[in-house]
Amino acid sequence: MTETKALFDTLRNSADENVVAAIESVVRDGTDRQLCRINVLNFAAKHKLGEEKTISGFLHAARLGLFELTWNVLCPGCGGVLDATQTLKSVHKEAYDCALCAAGYEPTLDEMVEVAFTVNPRLRRIAAHDPNSLPIWEYFRQIFWGSGVDLPETGLEEILEKITMEAIELPAGEKALISLQLPAEFVIVFEPVTHAAHFIDVKGEPTRERRNLTMIFNRVQAPTSTTEMRPGPLRLSLDNRTDVRTLPSIWIASDELHNLLGKRRPFLTAKRLLTNQTFRDIYRTDTLDVDQGLKVTSITFLFTDLKGSTALYDRVGDIVAYDLVREHFRILQEIVASEGGAVVKTIGDAVMATFPTPDRAVAAALRMRDSVQRLKNDLLVKIGIHEGPCLAVTLNDRLDYFGQTVNIAARVQSLADSRAIFVTKSVVENSQVSKILAESKINLTEQSAALRGVADRMSVFQIP
Ligand SMILES: [Zn+2]
Repeated sequence: MTETKALFDTLRNSADENVVAAIESVVRDGTDRQLCRINVLNFAAKHKLGEEKTISGFLHAARLGLFELTWNVLCPGCGGVLDATQTLKSVHKEAYDCALCAAGYEPTLDEMVEVAFTVNPRLRRIAAHDPNSLPIWEYFRQIFWGSGVDLPETGLEEILEKITMEAIELPAGEKALISLQLPAEFVIVFEPVTHAAHFIDVKGEPTRERRNLTMIFNRVQAPTSTTEMRPGPLRLSLDNRTDVRTLPSIWIASDELHNLLGKRRPFLTAKRLLTNQTFRDIYRTDTLDVDQGLKVTSITFLFTDLKGSTALYDRVGDIVAYDLVREHFRILQEIVASEGGAVVKTIGDAVMATFPTPDRAVAAALRMRDSVQRLKNDLLVKIGIHEGPCLAVTLNDRLDYFGQTVNIAARVQSLADSRAIFVTKSVVENSQVSKILAESKINLTEQSAALRGVADRMSVFQIP
């Protein structure tokens, strides 16, 4: 226990004390389930903690070895975890197949990759550390479904048993035979460990004839096929050719099943983590492979530049100007981090930052403008914001972004020459941004601009 205490004391040096206290109490008194693949946003809400502080706290806890951070590729259809890895480097660009949904999905870092934290066995041993020993429904809850599916805390078993005709544990290398009466409904045979499924579309006149169906579980991902059958007796042969326990279940694709899978809650996405300053500071270079390039559907870029810094050096002298410029960087960095963003890089007196959503970027921009002006009255920071898709890449040993969205954001910034913040249509059309502007009683002015390297003229808006 002394080692544990020492680790938490170290954690307190870098993380918020209330966050550390909440983590410590769950590690000490929480159930096993509460410590498996923790949904950090849900944890923050439950303990009434700020999201950014909580994310940062778990990142520091993972760095100290208190927790294991995993990147889980999720199926957007059923919320199942299609792949769980220790590093983002293992996530590939090609589509991931979901057997349960019989569909393939190209991964994006927005909604398809979640980041979850599981307690390290050295700190506390939980059942999910040996997933093949979990009771079947706990396996579904803790291992199969991602942290974005809002499963009921209690009563999940009852719901699942209602939709389940049969569910068995099939040990490694063993076979089983199940006899059942097919009802006139859509039936799914699903095995969550190997991610195998077979659909039975039951329709037509009932029959007394006994039909046979065989399913083999191995590590080969075969596409899910559908067999049409009439209601009546079926003999299902199951053959587990893997070296782990499998959990074949026969489900009725009822409204209850769809309702269960349809309830979602926010979760920590890979995108949000990549735009988090603590994450960038801790995991600096070890995020993506050089040629990996993963898609992000929507990310917001904010570029700044200090106006008249050359004149400033002339006027106040090198030492004073240098201090002012450094102080301005410190202020911008602090504001970016507090709005859930991250500084990607600085180029001369310019900053490139990312935010998970446009409203956080606009909120940061308004604060930046005021704070820099307060620093020195005639100091002006020119700001441009744009939102869109891009690729997350590793460039010069740094997690960076590539694509036209980045180019446009930089060009929009270069249009700014006075106090006004320049933003694009995709930014002003965000409903949260409208809210911020309305609350601050800001009226936008629109103009059409030709941006270098961009084929069409674009609408650009000024926040005066
Ligand atoms: Zn699915």
